[in-house]
Amino acid sequence: MTLILPGWLVAAADQPPRAGWGVRVSGSVIDRVGSHTELRAEFPDDEVVDAPASILLPGFVNAHVHLYGTLAHGIPVDDAPSDFWSFLEDYWWPKVEDALDVEMIEAATDYVCAEMLRSGITSFYDILEAPNAIPDALLAQKAVVERRGMRGLLSFEATERAGERIARQGLGENAALIDACDPGGLVGGLMCWHTTFTCSDAFITEAFGLAADRGVLSHAHVNEGIHEGLWCVENNGHRTVEHYDQLGVAGPDFLASQCVQLSERERELLAMRDVKITHMPLANCEVGGGIAPIPELIDAGATVGLGSDGYINDFFSVMRGAFLIHKARLQDPGAMPADRVLHMATRGGAEALGLERVGALHPGWSADLQLVDSTFPTPLTSHNLFEQLLLWRDHHHVSDVMVAGTWRVRSGEVLDTDMARLRARTNEQARRLWSGS
Ligand SMILES: [Zn+2]
Repeated sequence: MTLILPGWLVAAADQPPRAGWGVRVSGSVIDRVGSHTELRAEFPDDEVVDAPASILLPGFVNAHVHLYGTLAHGIPVDDAPSDFWSFLEDYWWPKVEDALDVEMIEAATDYVCAEMLRSGITSFYDILEAPNAIPDALLAQKAVVERRGMRGLLSFEATERAGERIARQGLGENAALIDACDPGGLVGGLMCWHTTFTCSDAFITEAFGLAADRGVLSHAHVNEGIHEGLWCVENNGHRTVEHYDQLGVAGPDFLASQCVQLSERERELLAMRDVKITHMPLANCEVGGGIAPIPELIDAGATVGLGSDGYINDFFSVMRGAFLIHKARLQDPGAMPADRVLHMATRGGAEALGLERVGALHPGWSADLQLVDSTFPTPLTSHNLFEQLLLWRDHHHVSDVMVAGTWRVRSGEVLDTDMARLRARTNEQARRLWSGS
């Protein structure tokens, strides 16, 4: 048993921070939450982690990442077409996604998992888009994530764009991974397909049925920019979320990522049907997709998690994006307060992914947690702590990270890991990808 006694405890984003409080970890879960004095008196024989200059808070949940995406950071796009459809068809699909192999995916998975742990992320959901790396790419990823000791949900983005054989293999890849995962283990799977413009209604309905049979969520990217909604109107006579509603997919077992360009009706449907949503403020900026109406969706009762989309994976940066972008869009400094952002980054993400007892430090909940340096140049108070944390901390302020009761980062070092070696290996694989060899 371990007592973790920080300067400040943030047990959950919907509770005020408490000075002089800590937690007791027993096995893989939080056993008790209380003041230092109470915990020390009650458990005098426990090992004690004293951290007076730290904030203890739940580990972050990166609710949408593409681990392979790191290999494309900085890839030359000078020759790529600027039109959305040609960019996908003539550049991104053939030159990046179709060129990925298992060796590249394993290197990126290992490096990004270590990097995410280092920045306080303890859980994530990954979407792999690599039609020529299946079958078994997900099983290879699973082995890497298990070695890292992270809580990871993995999926392959099945699509019909590359032909019938790859389409069938894509669904099979997800089903095989889900079936191979221990229900009580750290690694699990989701069913996933690309979009309405690369998958037929029959294919989507079949995938959704396979997920329902296995009791897991289904995932798709939805309206990342203006294109999918317009495509749907042209081909189906109504917009994307309306189409998913008609197919019987729009419900609490559907995770819709992005949700940037939405009509009023689509917003209503997402909230009314309890569709789970992930928000990726920085990646939305990168692709010029727009700004998702997240405050409005949350006000309407939607469950929203935060994701990096594999772009900038430092969650402090992602949180800052979510904190600031809606203030500018709505011309309202009160929009998207810090506690709401921290909720999306922790419990909101866990709820969106269907992770139970993850994302807050309550008794009986998973001991997924992090310690962050609390030495600021201005006084820390229960009223300003969330903002101080969001605005003026970065991954290098995270000193220690625990997943399911096991320390994975101590004193800023990812345990048993040579980051320079992982980085060099990933760099070598990125060179292979870029050169098409
Ligand atoms: Zn994505």
